[in-house]
Amino acid sequence: MTGRPEILWPLFAEIASLPGVGPKTAALLARLDCAHPVDLLFLAPQGLIDRRLRPSLSGVADGEVATVEVEIGVHHPPRSRGKPYRIAARDAETEFMLVWFHPRDDWLRYAAPIGARRIVSGKIEIFDGVRQMTHPDHLMTAAEAAALPPFEPVYPLTQGLGQRAVARAAQAALERAPVLPEWLDPAFKAARGWPEWRDAVRALHAPDGAAALAPEAPARARLAYDELLSHQLTLALARAKVKRGKGRPSVGDGALRARALAALPFAPTGAQSRAVAEIAADLASPLRMHRLLQGDVGSGKTLVALMAMLTAVEAGGQAAMMAPTEILARQHFDGLAPLAQAAGARLALLTGRDKGAARAEKLALLAAGDIDIAVGTHALFQQDVAFHDLRLAVVDEQHRFGVRQRMELGAKGQAADLLVMTATPIPRTLALAAYGDMDVSVLDEKPPGRQPVETRLVSMARLAEVVARLKAAVAGGAQAYWVCPLVEESDLSELTAAQDRFDALRETFGDAVRLVHGQMPPAEKDAAMADFISGRARVLVATTVIEVGVNVPNATIMVIERAESFGLAQLHQLRGRVGRGAGASTCLLLYGPLGETARARLQALRDTEDGFRIAEEDLRLRGPGDVLGPQQSGLPRFRLADIEAQADLMRIAQDDARLALTRDPDLESPRGGALRTLLWLHARDAAIRYLKAG
Ligand code: ADP
Ligand code: MG
Repeated sequence: MTGRPEILWPLFAEIASLPGVGPKTAALLARLDCAHPVDLLFLAPQGLIDRRLRPSLSGVADGEVATVEVEIGVHHPPRSRGKPYRIAARDAETEFMLVWFHPRDDWLRYAAPIGARRIVSGKIEIFDGVRQMTHPDHLMTAAEAAALPPFEPVYPLTQGLGQRAVARAAQAALERAPVLPEWLDPAFKAARGWPEWRDAVRALHAPDGAAALAPEAPARARLAYDELLSHQLTLALARAKVKRGKGRPSVGDGALRARALAALPFAPTGAQSRAVAEIAADLASPLRMHRLLQGDVGSGKTLVALMAMLTAVEAGGQAAMMAPTEILARQHFDGLAPLAQAAGARLALLTGRDKGAARAEKLALLAAGDIDIAVGTHALFQQDVAFHDLRLAVVDEQHRFGVRQRMELGAKGQAADLLVMTATPIPRTLALAAYGDMDVSVLDEKPPGRQPVETRLVSMARLAEVVARLKAAVAGGAQAYWVCPLVEESDLSELTAAQDRFDALRETFGDAVRLVHGQMPPAEKDAAMADFISGRARVLVATTVIEVGVNVPNATIMVIERAESFGLAQLHQLRGRVGRGAGASTCLLLYGPLGETARARLQALRDTEDGFRIAEEDLRLRGPGDVLGPQQSGLPRFRLADIEAQADLMRIAQDDARLALTRDPDLESPRGGALRTLLWLHARDAAIRYLKAG
């Protein structure tokens, strides 16, 4: 494998190697995510200051920056300490004051002698009815002014770092920007009217008017596209690598699936059947499957997973299904056991709780192929777990796992097909960014007979009333979840909140309340869940451990405390825990003090149960960065591209990347070489590792 091309080395040197950037500035720039000169190249100005010369200040509003030619008038040195040094100035039409606090007087007398013509630029203010320019940004001769760019970029800053320092560093980085081989398709680039890469970065830092700041300005659009292309190329390479890994088709005869279906009390929905067929086709293909099954809460993903796993077993192999929590793994096991039995497949549960001899025995059975389907937590994919013939790995609620775990899983069975499932309704506009490397099946239809959940917003101030109503409902046979507030960055206070609420509710409900939280000893957690499932307990106080997947059809009430502290997607997940049985269900969103956006978000949730619409609304209200935490969504952070506004470019980039790799899988052609440079430029080192040497 070759290393980073030499042409890029200067851009990847230490940032302090730039002239004029000392260690202090370097440390500050690091806070702007600028560690190397290349990062400065992509640090886009957020605004600009118009320094174009105008004849006069007349017409310039208070607070605006203006640049005018003046004749320097009388100097007014300060009469007492703390007073400013003022110099009268006259442009073509008006008179005003230039003002400095604590200047060096000799410098002012030298730089602005009476009667001289100078060009000054700065912010205009009105003080005591007099217009003045305090601490002009520039005080220059006409010759000096000629060198000043008409528009000055405005960079994002951090405490202690000024515009000039950033601008100077950016300019120094630009000096190092080489001409790079062109990786864009020439016809595409010409059609869009986009500049060369080096011209684009130069233009980025020298906006020539407000239009140059718009995302569709040619330089910005090109650089955004570069970013999207490097991302899609990375995904496409990962995908190509996964697909290369298999080679053995898994074709089932349908016998096990038929028996499982016969044991079901319902028929699969059309969407489920479609997804099952898509997956079966992937399993039958000699290419490795890399498929995402996306379906809203309650859409019935588990059944699809079971059908896929039975297919692998019919073909003589094994399947594994990984869930993010112990509770969920156990529930999957309990739910799947009767169906697996009806089908005649051997099912086992493996979690972190399996220890010692019992664990060793399960591992031996797995290794011998005497277990057909293993359900579990990430314990399934620990080092010492060996499968006899793993054909299919299923990851449930994949958003709870990091990209790294997804990779680990891929490594477990080189030949295993991969199905990941998620209920996180990623907005359509973002799906391509997050899952561009996967094929996608969507369950866009819910099983029949689902009752809508009535969602209500209630102030925390009415807590006592809520408890009283809950008491009446429980007396009438209802079961309820009570979810405690999400406390940021502190599992501990989250726990305290849950414990306190549990204690408080016990005064009303006595022995009918249970508590579950993540740090509980496993046996207690099981006992609490079991009591709730059996109906012995009527109210389950929980932290967000119940967020994903839990299925207790008799529970019809969901109370979420401080709902505003949760993300919309998470609230939607939580609400999805009710409305699963025959009874009408209610979700109460208890809120504390609410800002406008927070209120709008909760209202959006109240008004629809369509997970995709909720996700899109959330995106609109909060922006992509917040909708799904970065590690939750697998969404990359882009410096220039706006994945929402530039969804069209994302699609083009995906086609572009896939086509380029179809033609030139190892990027060996001239354009391939340029694309490698692009990957290096955007620090996609991982992607480069997917390429064969060369
Ligand atoms: P999710 O997609 O949220 O994981 P589950 O797989 O847990 O959903 O399914 C939710 C509930 O719907 C389960 O009780 C399951 O048995 C039931 N279910 C699944 N498919 C159907 C169907 N086709 N008809 C009726 N009920 C179904
Ligand atoms: Mg599920």
